Amino acid sequence: MNEQISTYIISASEAKSMAESKGLTVPQLLPSLIKSAQHLARPPISDFRVGSVGLASDGRIFFGGNVEFPGLPLHHSIHAEQFLITNLAAHGGGSKLLYIAVSAAPCGHCRQFLQELRGVSDTQIVITDQPQENPNYNPISSILPNPFGPLDLLDRETPLILEKHDNQLTFKGNLDLSNVSTELVKRDEEELKKAALVAARGSHAPYSGCPSGVALMDCEGQVYKGSYMESAAYNPSMMPVQAALVAYMVAGGGGYERIVAAVMVEKEVAMVRQEETASLAIA
Ligand SMILES: [Zn+2]
Repeated sequence: MNEQISTYIISASEAKSMAESKGLTVPQLLPSLIKSAQHLARPPISDFRVGSVGLASDGRIFFGGNVEFPGLPLHHSIHAEQFLITNLAAHGGGSKLLYIAVSAAPCGHCRQFLQELRGVSDTQIVITDQPQENPNYNPISSILPNPFGPLDLLDRETPLILEKHDNQLTFKGNLDLSNVSTELVKRDEEELKKAALVAARGSHAPYSGCPSGVALMDCEGQVYKGSYMESAAYNPSMMPVQAALVAYMVAGGGGYERIVAAVMVEKEVAMVRQEETASLAIA
């Protein structure tokens, strides 16, 4: 039996020694961590726990679990593979996802969202709930042949997820913070605003040209930020509040009631606006 670990990121050296202690390579270690990833999931609606574990090109292992939000439309849900990619992108795991293990066959939405990673067709995937005893790795191209993706819409130079983005956004005058909790002192407001701006600048929004970012603050004054990430197929896009909630969970944040303030940054005039849906999720 595999012991359960409660972490969202394993360092490269720890991954190596964990694998060696079991007589495995690091890619072979990933399926043994799936139960731990499933344990991190928060699916109060479906009660169906999906876990994903990925090996990035910097040698670190990243985790993801599915997250559902009672009271919100289902499209606010975070899928395990989306969680993993958001975790990876937020922590600079290098430019590639080399291997990924998932507890159940990825849905169409996740197969599509994965296309935002350059060269993902060669990423090796293993689905652990398959009938055979030792399921094998296969390239992502085997589960999504003939994909539609970023290169159908963008030139090769446009950065994709995991590549450096710098959307040239700046604040125009003073931001209205009247919706922010009045208990926050000025210093915290400034910190939140800055974090949300940094998140928006790092947003992957090449299709709409409407980057956005969210910063959340918990009751202890810790700040968590998340960048909006678009999909070439639009619907699988990762909304900025969800990305910030991933950051909150990865950093060990507990119940959502501990989140006391939020700031969202987007363009003043934008074809794609997040404000209304972000307010709904935050509420
Ligand atoms: Zn999915």
